[in-house]
Amino acid sequence: QSITAPDNLKPLLQDILQQALGVTRGKVADYIPALAEVKPDYCALTVATLDGSVTSVGDATTPFSIQSISKIFGLMLAMERLDEKLWQRVQMEPSGQPFNSIVQLEWEKGIPRNPMINAGAILVSDVLVSHYSASKSAVLSMVRGLCASDSVCVDRRVHQSEIEHGARNAALAYLMKSFGNLEADVDEVLDHYFWQCALTMSTEDLARALAFLANRGTCPYSGKAITSHRDAQRINALLSTSGMYDQSGQFAFTVGLPAKSGVGGGIVAIVPDYGVIAAWAPPLNSYGNSARGMEMIRNLANRLGLSVY
Ligand code: GLU
Repeated sequence: QSITAPDNLKPLLQDILQQALGVTRGKVADYIPALAEVKPDYCALTVATLDGSVTSVGDATTPFSIQSISKIFGLMLAMERLDEKLWQRVQMEPSGQPFNSIVQLEWEKGIPRNPMINAGAILVSDVLVSHYSASKSAVLSMVRGLCASDSVCVDRRVHQSEIEHGARNAALAYLMKSFGNLEADVDEVLDHYFWQCALTMSTEDLARALAFLANRGTCPYSGKAITSHRDAQRINALLSTSGMYDQSGQFAFTVGLPAKSGVGGGIVAIVPDYGVIAAWAPPLNSYGNSARGMEMIRNLANRLGLSVY
């Protein structure tokens, strides 16, 4: 893919952020008090390219709750441990349902549609709890290593709040357990899942951490192989079909990049052979995707011709 981006991206990003501030629809996630209190007017946009340059505008060094973006990190470790066996326990199909939907899970006998919806990420958490002696440290040290920074933390209030308001996720976990697709103790699995949702990172951290996905599995900064080329392709494929909840089709249509969003208002989009775009703005549209974040990524992708299709 040959991309003709200006050497100095900053003025373009500034313009795009300014335009996105005109988007006034959307509502900050309010299913837990800790997220409902986040200021709605934060806005950040970062582009990290494979040559090592990081260009940002707005609140790009402010850490926020990455929520479902953490599903990528959990999946990487589960793929490493189970390899092909993982795909007997979770499918690779788009769900066309909200991220926390339970109906499909019963029709499909406790096998989640994909690892990017809650049921799938809870299944992945079960793999981590069952196969790592300390699943949380495994995730944390991997993520810190990926962005070469110890600034990645966990928001304990968000973690606690998720546990207290986690009835629906617990229902997903118990349904999978009833079908024999969960090995570990349900409370332990949910605790891991809620904990990873509560990781906090900035758009700069996220863009750097995921650069390997734009570079066939190899970290462009350290030269280290993070995943195999095949696994990076597989993760990007899942992000393309399922990363933006049940708006993934529209995102492919209008933007055309593998991407993952979280209800904290973050979105990361992978531009193969070029780099990573990370956006953050807390108010969400009705699908649970950041309204301004979607607009910033769509605008940038269209202006630079980034669609992979
Ligand atoms: N903690 C949220 C939940 O489990 C994550 C949702 C998301 O970001 O998609 O419902």
